[in-house]
Amino acid sequence: MTEQLPLSNLQTRDIESVIHPYTPLHKLKTTGTLVVSHGKGVHVYDTQGREYIEGMSGLWCAGLGFGDEEMVDAATEQMRALPFYHLFGAKSFEPAIELAEKLKEIAPVPISKVFFTSSGSEANDTQVKLAWFLNNARGKPQKKKIISRIRAYHGVTVMAASLTGLPGNHNGWDLPVDRVLHTDCPHFYRFGKEGESEADFVDRIVQSLRDLIEREGADTIAAMIAEPVMGAGGVVVPPKGYFEAIQAVLDEHDIMLIADEVITGFGRTGNWWGTETFNMRPKTLSAAKQLTSAYAPLGAVMVPEDIYQAYVDYTAQLGTFGHGFTYGGHPLGCALGVKAIEIYQRRDIVGHVRRLAPVFEARMKRLAEFELVGEARYCGLVGGVELVADKTTRRAFKPAQGVGPLTAKLLEENGLILRAMGDTIGLCPPMVISEGELNELFDRLEKALRQAEEHVTKEKLRAA
Ligand code: PLP
Repeated sequence: MTEQLPLSNLQTRDIESVIHPYTPLHKLKTTGTLVVSHGKGVHVYDTQGREYIEGMSGLWCAGLGFGDEEMVDAATEQMRALPFYHLFGAKSFEPAIELAEKLKEIAPVPISKVFFTSSGSEANDTQVKLAWFLNNARGKPQKKKIISRIRAYHGVTVMAASLTGLPGNHNGWDLPVDRVLHTDCPHFYRFGKEGESEADFVDRIVQSLRDLIEREGADTIAAMIAEPVMGAGGVVVPPKGYFEAIQAVLDEHDIMLIADEVITGFGRTGNWWGTETFNMRPKTLSAAKQLTSAYAPLGAVMVPEDIYQAYVDYTAQLGTFGHGFTYGGHPLGCALGVKAIEIYQRRDIVGHVRRLAPVFEARMKRLAEFELVGEARYCGLVGGVELVADKTTRRAFKPAQGVGPLTAKLLEENGLILRAMGDTIGLCPPMVISEGELNELFDRLEKALRQAEEHVTKEKLRAA
């Protein structure tokens, strides 16, 4: 790895003033920060003029890449016309109406109404509140627990972080709160037992869900929330038949499924929704991120008519629907949501993802041959490369060895920004990436992996 250069003026000012999310704060003064100045297409540029392929679409979100002029024009137009308004107290504006209509039209299951938030965390937090509100409305005040999964990621508000099933979001944060239950992670490579087939693994974890429900009592559980593909938990693509089997158990116990489509929505998995790719039958959905291609903050909770009617009837008793965020459904976000969906449709982004998926798959399979790579998993244009100390036994490196973060640093030095989630390197390139750019991304990734291999061997990090 190249020597760390002295910090630039901007880096120093940054570290002196900004608290960085998901960052080892104690190391910042030695690692420095990457200060990005602009972006175009799949590339971003730092303040030193270095170019990077943004292989994570930022945070799984900038599906249209950077500097899309149509998006910039739509934003400018909206800012001129109405830079802010809200939906409280029966106020409204056209972009919110149009976007809600559009979401209903493209939804993978019957959806009749949309509640807007400013982020994915707020959308999932709202999902929980709405599930509670609904069961109070239905006269089932004891039916309130929410099932989530180990390694799930649903955000960082108190409830969204509680739904999240990652130790880093709980340890030290006094989380999870009550009423949240975590069931198994459908990660066969990591959690499958020796000699167990994938089908047997699914049977086992579905039985474990059933046991959990029976232990807790179905009449205490309102909903289960699930990402179609787990993102921050290490890009976990569920095994065949998993969601169908889960759904059967939930149906039996009157527990509704909430699909967290924050990463998978709008084409990422090769269909408009991950729900379609994995045969899920959620009652409600959360969306955010690619909803506006991240050009402005926006989240959405999408619900069917019977649930909405229950809110209406309950509100009649309570007097108001007491929930809402000042910036939920901000006009800028809504205008950009309308524009992003129009672009996804006009430019056939889903078709583009499908056409590129075989290239992505072929290059992921090549990565799987590296000694350092235990598993390379993928779906559409999202993937995870799990680095292991021993390919045969699947033994992981010790977290303190920092092989994942080191690899991310090497990637950066090779002009590629990806994210290390522990020792899994996530890939989620802008959906507009060309075939040539995608191959360039993998060439840079392979180069960095060879360097990481060298480092691991030199430092004898494989020793048990
Ligand atoms: N849900 C999923 C699946 C996510 O990946 C994320 C963020 O990465 C969130 C929710 C939280 O979204 P936000 O960071 O916009 O609050």
